[in-house]
Amino acid sequence: MKKKIVVFDFDGTVTDAEAEGVPFVKAYREDLKILCGLNGETAIETLDRIEELIRTELKKGWDFDGVIVAPACVDPYLRMKAVAQELFEEMGLFLDPKDRKCLLEYLYRKNYPLSGKVFKQGALEVFNTLLQNSEIVVYIVTNSDTEAVQSKIVELGIDLPADHVIGGAKKYMIGETPDTIPAEMDISGLERPIFLRRSHYFKVLDEIRLRHHATWKDLLVVGDIWELDLILPHTLGTKIGLMVNENTPGYEREWIVRYPERARLIHTLPEVIDLVDTLL
Ligand SMILES: [Mg+2]
Repeated sequence: MKKKIVVFDFDGTVTDAEAEGVPFVKAYREDLKILCGLNGETAIETLDRIEELIRTELKKGWDFDGVIVAPACVDPYLRMKAVAQELFEEMGLFLDPKDRKCLLEYLYRKNYPLSGKVFKQGALEVFNTLLQNSEIVVYIVTNSDTEAVQSKIVELGIDLPADHVIGGAKKYMIGETPDTIPAEMDISGLERPIFLRRSHYFKVLDEIRLRHHATWKDLLVVGDIWELDLILPHTLGTKIGLMVNENTPGYEREWIVRYPERARLIHTLPEVIDLVDTLL
């Protein structure tokens, strides 16, 4: 029987990324101080100033391979990566793109395991409700490591098949596919293009779709960053739900409300059940 598919992002969607990220941010800042030779009050002032800049200058975003691929303000993981890049630029450090990319990857991988475990309210109940519905299959597709995410959901008691947690999705990687959709688009309120062809993420979603003999219309994708998690699947034809928080950029919210047939803003996880009932 043809299934309907619900795909969740993980950090910031199923979890409270800001609460979880407190130890991550603390350790990451310490690493930056050491790497850049910053000390005392100057170090704190510099890091605070740059973090505020990343929160407010929306066009800065997350730079991956020389392109801005997502806002950097929405969760602490992206924000700290952008802080590091801005700091390295200011100080003229780690200028070789390959070295910098390796270093940023290292800092993320080193500090991510320090993150706490803070699930959004109702996470277990929402997954249980969906998993008990024989017409629905559930996946988690995330940029984070598969094992780290699997161990968190096992701890919460979510009984999701192991191969339904897909980490390393590289939603930030821009490529040539799918070539059936435009490479980029402009939206009001943002002074930079949005890149649509996220080739690796597309491959992951397409494999899920094909595995269940589904069409794009049979998918609901839920994420906390429209540009990273949702614009590609929406362009392909899926339904989407944007989990907003206080750092969600206004242009992302405004875009969502223009497409009520297939896109909704949500503030809590239990609202996903309503999306399944009304959109899928
Ligand atoms: Mg997320």
